[in-house]
Amino acid sequence: MKLIFEKSVKGRGMQYLPDCDVEEISLPDCLKREEAPKLPEISETDLSRHYTELIKRVHGVNCGFYPLGSCTMKYNPRIDEEMAALPGFTGVHPLAPDYATEGCKEVLDTAKTLLTEITGMDDMTFQPAAGAHGEFTGVLLIKQYHDARNDKKRTKIIVPDSAHGTNPATAAMCGYTVVNIPSAPNGCVDLDALKSALGDDTAGLMLTNPNTVGIFDENILEITRLVHEAGGLCYYDGANLNAVMGVVRPGDMGFDCIHLNLHKTFATPHGGGGPGSGAVGCKAHLAPYLPKSKLMTGKDAFQVRSFAGNFLVVVKALTYILTLGKEGIPEAAKNAVLNANYLMRKIQGTFEPAFDRICMHEFVLDLSAFKKETGVSALDVAKSLIDNGMHPPTMYFPLIVHEALMLEPTETESRETLDWAAEVYRNLYKLAHEDPDYMHASPHKAQIARPDEVKAARNPILKYQA
Ligand SMILES: *Cc1c(COP(=O)(O)O)cnc(C)c1O
Repeated sequence: MKLIFEKSVKGRGMQYLPDCDVEEISLPDCLKREEAPKLPEISETDLSRHYTELIKRVHGVNCGFYPLGSCTMKYNPRIDEEMAALPGFTGVHPLAPDYATEGCKEVLDTAKTLLTEITGMDDMTFQPAAGAHGEFTGVLLIKQYHDARNDKKRTKIIVPDSAHGTNPATAAMCGYTVVNIPSAPNGCVDLDALKSALGDDTAGLMLTNPNTVGIFDENILEITRLVHEAGGLCYYDGANLNAVMGVVRPGDMGFDCIHLNLHKTFATPHGGGGPGSGAVGCKAHLAPYLPKSKLMTGKDAFQVRSFAGNFLVVVKALTYILTLGKEGIPEAAKNAVLNANYLMRKIQGTFEPAFDRICMHEFVLDLSAFKKETGVSALDVAKSLIDNGMHPPTMYFPLIVHEALMLEPTETESRETLDWAAEVYRNLYKLAHEDPDYMHASPHKAQIARPDEVKAARNPILKYQA
């Protein structure tokens, strides 16, 4: 496919502006460009075809199955986008006077009421722009809480080895020493390891439940009790609330502080670096330390981002919650869990789950035995899935499972899609035994087969180079 610059023809374009009917005024020389900007010149037809061609080269939720674990790539109703596109929301200026932002304030207040109800928290901020940013904000709340009580000896944050990488990174960025504790064989927190890590230097624990292997930790009340008993606070990584929303609440599990990724669970598509929202909720004892925005409270205070955060993401979340309602929210969660268990059991017998028990919204396959047997790796399987018209699952995460593939089908997939996906997996399992070389060379039909991903990430070429 040619780049748009390569399609450019000098002088080509579309003229929409009427002839100038006022006196032309020349800019002073110091404001003028020395040479014309290097912009592609192309007709509207060719421009439209160019972008349509690009669209055909990507795989989105609108094109097909996208079970990327730990990312909740669900189909989001179009009404959420429509509400966020209303001119009254898109056109509002953050410095507009109060009388002109009443509607926006009501959106933020209502979203806060509903999301604190869903999570069992007392207060919330929408300032953080992403999950990691929310974690950073939340752990700072914990830090301020200890500091305010002059409890300076608490220098450590406990993080299980199955945690999302942003958890230890956050704790370190907030100036804490990270204490890693190993998981028990069932993927959950090892209570003995936790007990020996706890002490009067414990500032807190960061945990996600269901955890990163998709399992609900049944000892959660004991875990949070132990941390509190040691004088620490409990942080809940609620990036993926899809399995539990409307069913159980982090607040009732004993957590003091949480973040939600509105861009995973609550109707903003995740990925592509688009705007997100890492809303942070907390119990009353942490509320005095929350960053406040003018729009939210009417007074200025500590900020982690300008104004009210990514406001339109909150509009989508509110629309999503209101359209699903009190019955729809837990129903979505239960269907997400049902779909994950259904797919896991349908695939089982070929690729085996890392933990053979009921999973939550996602599950992890352990391909290490399969790789020994066939030489085909989790990467080879992921690449082969591309040829079959589905997005690969998350690979090589969580780190505690070797040759991991992590699938999250979400509640918005039909039984037919899940049956088809299971069939594809089962066929690939067979193919790996019959023709492993074919899988080593996959994908055969994609535009790009096996790029050097490290190089692409470290030295991306994002600009046209003539
Ligand atoms: C996605 C995710 C995060 C990080 O969220 P970002 O918005 O990507 O910063 C943190 N924790 C868990 C468990 C996640 O799945």
